[in-house]
Amino acid sequence: MPMSEKVVILGGGLGGLFTGALLAKEGYQVTIIEKNRTLGGGLQMFSRNGVAFETGMHMLGGLRPDGSIRKICDYLGITSQLDIKPTDHDCMDSITYLSDGKTYRIPEGRDNFIDYFSQQFPHQATNIKAYVNKLYDLSEEVDFFYLRHETGNIFNHSEEFMWPANKLIAHYIGDERLRDILAYMNPMYGGVENRTPAFVHALINVLYINGTDRFAGGSQQLANALAQVITNRGGKVTTSEKVTRVAVGENKLVEKVVSDKGHEFTGDVYIAAFHPFALLEAIDDSAFTKAYKDRIKNAPNSYSTFSVFISFKPESFPYINHTCYFQDDYGSVWSHSDYDPDTWPRGFMYMTSPEHNQGKWATKMIINSIMKFEQVEKWADTTTGKRGENYEKWKQDHINKVLQRLEQLHPGIGNCIDHITASSPLTIRDYFNVKDGANYGFSKDCNNLALTQLSIFTKVKNLYLTGQCINLHGICGVPLTAVNTVEAIERSHDIIDRINNHYQMLTNS
Ligand SMILES: Cc1cc2nc3c(=O)[nH]c(=O)nc-3n(C[C@H](O)[C@H](O)[C@H](O)COP(=O)(O)OP(=O)(O)OC[C@H]3O[C@@H](n4cnc5c(N)ncnc54)[C@H](O)[C@@H]3O)c2cc1C
Repeated sequence: MPMSEKVVILGGGLGGLFTGALLAKEGYQVTIIEKNRTLGGGLQMFSRNGVAFETGMHMLGGLRPDGSIRKICDYLGITSQLDIKPTDHDCMDSITYLSDGKTYRIPEGRDNFIDYFSQQFPHQATNIKAYVNKLYDLSEEVDFFYLRHETGNIFNHSEEFMWPANKLIAHYIGDERLRDILAYMNPMYGGVENRTPAFVHALINVLYINGTDRFAGGSQQLANALAQVITNRGGKVTTSEKVTRVAVGENKLVEKVVSDKGHEFTGDVYIAAFHPFALLEAIDDSAFTKAYKDRIKNAPNSYSTFSVFISFKPESFPYINHTCYFQDDYGSVWSHSDYDPDTWPRGFMYMTSPEHNQGKWATKMIINSIMKFEQVEKWADTTTGKRGENYEKWKQDHINKVLQRLEQLHPGIGNCIDHITASSPLTIRDYFNVKDGANYGFSKDCNNLALTQLSIFTKVKNLYLTGQCINLHGICGVPLTAVNTVEAIERSHDIIDRINNHYQMLTNS
């Protein structure tokens, strides 16, 4: 074990913390540099009016027994520190269509999912089964999803793997309404018609069909648990320090990292755990070729979100133990990001996030509605708290639009609200330092996957990448990429065996 190797990680979000915790357990001396006062990136929470809200991570997958993320957390010894609350077995998600007032209550579990939709659409029963089986087959093509050693390459995949997700659904499902419903998780992966690859749709659907969970008490607990793994092994987690320079020598090695406070950090290995565009802003210009820089600058990013955060009056609004989706009508699921001020929002997802010991009544609700960065472009040069009156008015108008929809879904909800606030794509951009406020980093494109896929390795020999722009985003993709980053640094695949063996040992004991 390379006890002396010092690793400096730039960014203390989901990717930086998982990679740091795994490396600390491997014996590396880890230092994390995070620009925000609070650690966590997408796990970070904020408080308004005494109520704590999540900023990014609301829905979890992969944490059930045998799930890949569960195995990683077990390996790190943090599972018992997490207060995980499963959503309802018979309704993990609901989707309400305002046009016909119909609500679909979707159960977890592969067979339950097939049975439910077969009951709702009996004429499609055979096709539904074939479609769901295909989702699972596609997920099996991705070894990394199941924490297996990579056995193939891109050319070994089935034809459907790289189809657009909408083509995959339409291939199996003839009913137009059902096609629409089966794309309801689009907001969870930034789905774009004719662009999002079928395998992304498959991975996210399989992840959640296998069972969704939420953090009771919020996502910050995962950030804190991961940070503790690092500090317990002698590592350092520094907050409120923005990386402003990554100095690269003529030998193509990072020599040091400098923060906005003028502090210098040195190590043997460096890992950029934030959006690659943020890396370009900090790294010496000569470090990368023009072609590589152009690729990062021009890669399309996923869409962003307008979020509304509500705290409720005591005992006024019931707690809902699943995630809710609303669509104004069938046929709009692929075009929610097409903004029309008269009809926005045509759909959104919302949830009453649980507290520790959650009871019958909700304390809060978070509503996320897809929005492109273009809608706030005119305030692009402003900073948090200083965006001006026009922006505040625009924000209030959009809060009102969301509330109108909510009132249609839950008449009387307006009377339950104690406090309300909102964030826009600008907030996400500035909070996470992510280009265009993109929820999920680069937007994967099945027509040109290479454009939006970066390698963990860079031309700077001691600089590696991790985080959501590398493979897949979210609670599943980012920790798995952290495992890949450790493999790249160690030039060995042993860590996968160690994680799996540890899990096997736990389940056998
Ligand atoms: C609104 C929203 C809802 C989401 N909901 C879910 C969900 O329900 N489930 C799910 O699985 N995923 C969800 N996601 C996605 C998930 O949050 C991300 O995929 C994940 O956080 C990405 O991890 P990361 O480490 O790549 O980036 P981040 O978690 O964003 O971490 C990057 C970190 O780097 C820091 N940083 C940036 N620049 C610098 C610098 N110069 N110096 C020092 N530090 C810097 C940032 O402050 C941040 O802490 C959501 C995202 C958003 C925006």
